[in-house]
Amino acid sequence: MLLPFYFKRVSENRYLVSNLLRQFQFVDRAQFDKLCAGNFDRELKNFFAAESELDSVAEEYRRLNAGLFYGATLHIFVLTLACNLNCLYCQAEYSRGGKPFMSAETARRAVEVALSSPEDELHFEFQGGEPLLNFDALKTIVECANELRGDKVVKFSLVTNAQAMTDEILSYLAAHDVQITFSIDGPKFIHDANRPTKDGSSNFDRVFHWFKRACDVYAEKNFIRALPTTTRLSLSHAKEIVDFYCALDVADISLRELSPFGRVGKNFDAIGYTPQEFLNFYRECMDYIIALNLSGKTNLTESLSKMILQKIFGRHVVNYPDLRSPCGATIGQIAYNWNGDIYTCDEGRMLANRGIENFRVGNVRENSYRECLLSAAACEVCNASCVESNPSCESCIYNPICGLCPVYSFFTQGDFVGVPIRQARCKILRGIYDYLIEWSNCEDTARKNLCERWGTEP
Ligand code: SF4
Ligand code: SF4
Ligand code: SF4
Repeated sequence: MLLPFYFKRVSENRYLVSNLLRQFQFVDRAQFDKLCAGNFDRELKNFFAAESELDSVAEEYRRLNAGLFYGATLHIFVLTLACNLNCLYCQAEYSRGGKPFMSAETARRAVEVALSSPEDELHFEFQGGEPLLNFDALKTIVECANELRGDKVVKFSLVTNAQAMTDEILSYLAAHDVQITFSIDGPKFIHDANRPTKDGSSNFDRVFHWFKRACDVYAEKNFIRALPTTTRLSLSHAKEIVDFYCALDVADISLRELSPFGRVGKNFDAIGYTPQEFLNFYRECMDYIIALNLSGKTNLTESLSKMILQKIFGRHVVNYPDLRSPCGATIGQIAYNWNGDIYTCDEGRMLANRGIENFRVGNVRENSYRECLLSAAACEVCNASCVESNPSCESCIYNPICGLCPVYSFFTQGDFVGVPIRQARCKILRGIYDYLIEWSNCEDTARKNLCERWGTEP
């Protein structure tokens, strides 16, 4: 029996086909015609099943998507919207009055809601503004979580610009196994252009100093990461950025495009780019990272590409909240804003800074974890994020590995569902998928093996 499949014509005599079990295969025109006619071909066995095998195919589909049945594992605590930098793409702009700092009482209640998730292992992430400007709330959350967690495991992480870091803070973070991600946009001239201080001066030396210091203090623990944001200035410096990250000796780099929330709209002429310009940058970085890996100079990986390859090659659950269907909003991750309001995710909470409250699912003083999950906003976002029911996506070859973002759709197109095919997000994702599928089918054995390694190793 022929199983459901997706296809895309790549050239005159070449088609790419995929199935719901995330298996991709290139076929020629004759094979494609055979597949469409439902005629079995041994080389296309992944696309057929005997009647007696249907239960095991369904079981495999369920197993690969088991992440959908987990509770929320990622809990994001927005400790403050205040910041000591003035980044051109900042998403934390706040103009609604009051002091945007999480109180100890709000922090404790947020921990109680987060610990109500049925999951045994939770990840608490500290975000801002600059979270270290409210270090007291961070300590309250760590200590409260350790006091109340029972048998649950709680892992902590912090995303920081490091301007308020001190030796005392770093010692506390290390003593409590808090992973640290430093926001560094690459070499000094790029970082300082993107991320000026309020008076316009450089902060690169400071963040670089604390990155190095953290690597020393954390010794062998692989708890220190660095995260760049790609702006127009980055586009012509792909190799320098990759070299910079190799020199930092971090495990991976994340080639993130600019998120449209926050100041990007206002500064688009200075820092923005088209999806194709970003994809050219992505391809140049990836070609270079692969070449450096093959020459033995680095083991650096690119985090999004690795995660997508794990979906294609790995036969295990890959539960990345933004690329699953439905997405992880509320059911996979939750964000607690400084004032106690609870949102579907960090991006949903970012829109609240602009007075858009469509992604608010509750408040730590008024609602339980269960009430947040059952809120109208959570259910609506969940429905809207299903690739299976979106007209843009229902016939897309990448449907089995993709996911929709209702926050993005709402912000850029005015409703939760949107028309993904017209979104920059979709164009970029399609370009990345194309690159990775090409890489996984290249003729060069060493290159192909590296691709498989990224897709199968943890
Ligand atoms: S460090 Fe973060 S919060 Fe601060 S200005 Fe930059 S992007 Fe905004
Ligand atoms: S968002 Fe774009 S790439 Fe993803 S499934 Fe939909 S059409 Fe395909
Ligand atoms: S709404 Fe968007 S940002 Fe939020 S979890 Fe879903 S995909 Fe991620």
